[in-house]
Amino acid sequence: MSSSRTSDVLVVGGGIIGVVTAWRAAQRGFATTVVDPEPGGGAAQVAAGMLAPVTELHYGEQTLLGLNLESARRYPDFAAELTDLSGHDLGYRRSGTLAVALDADDRAHLRELHALQRQSGLDSEWLSGRECRRLEPMLAPGVRGGLRVDGDHQIDPRRLVAALVVACERAGVVFHRSWARRLSVVRERAVGVVTPEGVALGAGQVVLAGGSLSGRLAGVPQDVLPPVRPVKGQVLRLTVPERYAPFLSRTVRAVVRGSQVYLVPRENGELVVGATSEELGWDTTVTAGGVYELLRDAHELVPGITELPLTETRAGLRPGSPDNAPLLGPSALDGLLLATGHYRNGVLLTPVTGDTLAHALVCGELPDEARPFTARRFAAGLFAAARTEQPV
Ligand SMILES: Cc1cc2nc3c(=O)[nH]c(=O)nc-3n(C[C@H](O)[C@H](O)[C@H](O)COP(=O)(O)OP(=O)(O)OC[C@H]3O[C@@H](n4cnc5c(N)ncnc54)[C@H](O)[C@@H]3O)c2cc1C
Repeated sequence: MSSSRTSDVLVVGGGIIGVVTAWRAAQRGFATTVVDPEPGGGAAQVAAGMLAPVTELHYGEQTLLGLNLESARRYPDFAAELTDLSGHDLGYRRSGTLAVALDADDRAHLRELHALQRQSGLDSEWLSGRECRRLEPMLAPGVRGGLRVDGDHQIDPRRLVAALVVACERAGVVFHRSWARRLSVVRERAVGVVTPEGVALGAGQVVLAGGSLSGRLAGVPQDVLPPVRPVKGQVLRLTVPERYAPFLSRTVRAVVRGSQVYLVPRENGELVVGATSEELGWDTTVTAGGVYELLRDAHELVPGITELPLTETRAGLRPGSPDNAPLLGPSALDGLLLATGHYRNGVLLTPVTGDTLAHALVCGELPDEARPFTARRFAAGLFAAARTEQPV
């Protein structure tokens, strides 16, 4: 086995969560390495980039709402700092969201969501169908009403993760382009990883940020492995030709026949249509059925989309956790921290996750706002069913 340099902090996984953690760690003076065969890849290459704590609110997720709102609050400064440092435009757009209903059932569902939003002290305005169409003239004539949420924004996750990689490089983060095959544990403390090439990467502290693969790293004790599972999402990208612009001025979303559909318009003319939600292990096949359902539902919402060129179809994996919330900070194994399980809000939670992990690396504990998301909150063995076959 050959041995490479030893870092203060070694981050396993260079998806959006791993690179923000590495960047913030390096800013705190830690010599930091990221191990990933393709840093800057992962689910951020597929994600829509909605920063939507209000329209993503679900019953039973009020604790997560607090963290989502905190991250949304940090976004303007985070985006400004990252843009300055990387020179990248992140496609950060504060253009708001409109959640609409197409039939009486959807309308009742949206009314309930509105009540929950109001109880939670969130800004959300009920609009009639006509008012919705006045805001977004491309909406179908059948729209029965909707919620206007000006506080739910968007960013382009591909640009965001690329900017984070640049910021990491400028802060001195080293990228080791390989897999971590096994965690090295000495005297009940994580001390680094070994790659498939037999390279040992040593570290004072290891952060496991492997997205949907986080529960698969060999060498992590069973009772410490995070109960994270892959939740597949298929997404389409269309292009709005100049002559149709502005096609939509804000994110438009709805629940159609029980499935979420959203259309996220970017300033550069891209229109993202998503997303399916499928529990199929690590499969990332784009299927005819997935594309058909997304187009069918999006067409019911905005009939004019059939005129637009379809430029990309792709599937990605959300790292789902048992309570849909992330696992953050020190684990039950000394020297090992977790930053995973961000499920459908990983892009939104990027700023607060970077700050939280930096705090935990320095202080050994979570900051107050992140305490409910401790990596230790799931008992051993309970979620073993989430860990099925090995995909890599
Ligand atoms: C269809 C879809 C739509 C989404 N839309 C939104 C949205 O609108 N808003 C929002 O906030 N979020 C959204 N998300 C969620 C968001 O994209 C994810 O929560 C987030 O990208 C997860 O980032 P991650 O870094 O934790 O994991 P990943 O992106 O999965 O990255 C993990 C990385 O770790 C690496 N890795 C894993 N194991 C190892 C190992 N052993 N050794 C080395 N490297 C390893 C992988 O190669 C990968 O690069 C969406 C996700 C999907 C799939």
